[in-house]
Amino acid sequence: MVDLKKDVKYVKGVGPNRVKLLNKLNIFTLGDLITYYPRGYEDRSKPKNMLECIDGEEALIEAIVVNRMTEIRLKGKTMYKLQVRDESGIGTAIWFNQSYLKNKFQVGKKYKFYGKISNAFGKITIQSPVFDEEEKNNNTGKIIPIYPLTYQLSQNVLRKIIENGLKEVEGGLQETLPSYLLEEYHLQNLQQAMKHIHFPNEFKDFTIARKRLVFEELLSTQLALLELKNMSLTEGNGIAFHEEAKMSDIIHQLPFRLTGAQRRVLEEIDTNMESPRAMNRLLQGDVGSGKTVIAMCAAYKAVKSGYQAAIMAPTAILATQHLENFQKMLANTGIRVELLISGITKKKKEDILHRLANGEIDILIGTHAIIEDNVVFSKLGLVVTDEQHRFGVKQRTRIVEKGQNPDVLVMTATPIPRTLALILYGDLDISIIDELPPNRKKVDTFAVSKKMEDRINNFIREQIKEGRQAYVVCPLVEENEEMDLKSVEKLYEKYKKEVFPDYRVEYIHGKMKPKEKDEIMTKFKAGGIDVLISTTVIEVGVDVPNANIMVIEDAERFGLAALHQLRGRVGRGEYKSYCILKYEGKGEVVRKRMKVMCETNDGFVISEKDLELRGSGDFFGTMQHGLPEFKIANLFEDMEILKSVQSVAIKIMSDDPKLEKEKNKLLKDLIKDKFMKRIEI
Ligand code: ADP
Ligand code: MG
Repeated sequence: MVDLKKDVKYVKGVGPNRVKLLNKLNIFTLGDLITYYPRGYEDRSKPKNMLECIDGEEALIEAIVVNRMTEIRLKGKTMYKLQVRDESGIGTAIWFNQSYLKNKFQVGKKYKFYGKISNAFGKITIQSPVFDEEEKNNNTGKIIPIYPLTYQLSQNVLRKIIENGLKEVEGGLQETLPSYLLEEYHLQNLQQAMKHIHFPNEFKDFTIARKRLVFEELLSTQLALLELKNMSLTEGNGIAFHEEAKMSDIIHQLPFRLTGAQRRVLEEIDTNMESPRAMNRLLQGDVGSGKTVIAMCAAYKAVKSGYQAAIMAPTAILATQHLENFQKMLANTGIRVELLISGITKKKKEDILHRLANGEIDILIGTHAIIEDNVVFSKLGLVVTDEQHRFGVKQRTRIVEKGQNPDVLVMTATPIPRTLALILYGDLDISIIDELPPNRKKVDTFAVSKKMEDRINNFIREQIKEGRQAYVVCPLVEENEEMDLKSVEKLYEKYKKEVFPDYRVEYIHGKMKPKEKDEIMTKFKAGGIDVLISTTVIEVGVDVPNANIMVIEDAERFGLAALHQLRGRVGRGEYKSYCILKYEGKGEVVRKRMKVMCETNDGFVISEKDLELRGSGDFFGTMQHGLPEFKIANLFEDMEILKSVQSVAIKIMSDDPKLEKEKNKLLKDLIKDKFMKRIEI
């Protein structure tokens, strides 16, 4: 068997310089090398006639060299020109600064050229083509893999190195999947798959190879997550919170009745908290479904059991909002709640840290500030992170490490379809609030074209006159934050000068300092701004009950989940609320997506549809963090494989929870590696 851990420097063709370049691509071992998969392929196997090529097309030309190569000097460059002829006519191959080509070609001999063809009214140029003599197939005559690359390392060089790597493993690659799976799911063996993923003879080869590799990658991730979950199920070293610390005591004091879904979820959490195993639970619930009160009840139980609780929110204003809510709800309980954000004075901070370490604070609510090393709890028993997709896993882990196996509750407002939840959060138990509090008014949503702008603006004017406020969300600019800034400023100018000169218009964007952002949001919340122009920074759940209009510019650029999140900013008060999606509607998919938004307010329905319709922005646009890194699988394109993998994984795990059976030995080995990294999810 070959040793895949062997340093890549021992592979033929890899010298000291290339080692460095390969390392930059995260290729350190032979195994890394052969699992550096192509991002695409070029078919260099089917020749075309020169004159039939479209301008700009890359193509394979078989042509006879007509003249000796000529050399032309242009400003600091040398161009090499070669006249060639095929059945359809005459063309010119050109290269720059490649003097070694000078004596490469024999007049009258046939060669194969592959490169970009420019066709200027029948005048054909082949630009910097790769080539082979007629009977050779080094650079042409086959399907060629294209790798994601950094500069300096060329496709040709990397291809050659990978080819050498594959030669080394030929016949000696250890199969990684048990044979019963290969048979049952018609999967190719690893040896073949590895060869064909790099060098397919035909396109269908790579489809077959890819399926096997994707299956393996998804299966190992899914199994690892499930095993992680099984382990925490059996580990008994978490905290058993007290039965006598009754959540119902605080629930009775709430100003509203909990919804059925909230009660069910609290029941799940309660049971979990009382058991000696550590809770690792994801709480999913649409915007406005009432997750805060759940966090509060859990914190109440922790405190009444003699522990402290930490609540982490992604922004200062959200943390402050939580503080206010907690203080209100816990008013008569004697529970001491404090806020730790970077904006507080040094003195205040020192005081908080001091009391926290002494156990004189029961619940600490805060931002990233509570992760810092100098924040020490005396007895941390519960960690809640809100809107967790904004936190990296590392941040979550760091706060958890401040206690001894505290219970963890991760809350998210991003509805996740079941299939994805299982692969993203397979190690967590999942609770879902699938019901909104009563008397919630549906946000009326309209998808409109730009032509209706005036009418929309008049409508907004009317609402502002009545005392309401509006959000206007800028088009999503993917490039960078500078561009984001420009787009928000441009829109601001337009609204301030042209559209609503009589109203108070302001803007907010991601590049502002957290303090500035908080100031603007606080002012908006206090009613000091009529129209707030914003990038998607407002997405995170600040409550402004008086704001009842959400306008989203170029809505077609947003993923459905993002639109849904944004819409969740309105409809939080007593007023009838509206969401206006301005879009430029061409494709059918765009229209369908807008339609979904107008038809339903249910985040789960929307996320399922989003998955179905895919399209720009995507569901994961709102989930930048928290995605496992896959080498080859793509959660969208491979949804079918993912589904079958999940049912396989569940079946395997229920039959053999610790993967101890002989037939699953390979699977055990396969996920060992993932465990070491504790899966970056
Ligand atoms: P989210 O899940 O988006 O974090 P919140 O916890 O902020 O939602 O709740 C939104 C609003 O609904 C809050 O003002 C909260 O007090 C209120 N709320 C929560 N649960 C209920 C309920 N069962 N009945 C009525 N109002 C509720
Ligand atoms: Mg919330």
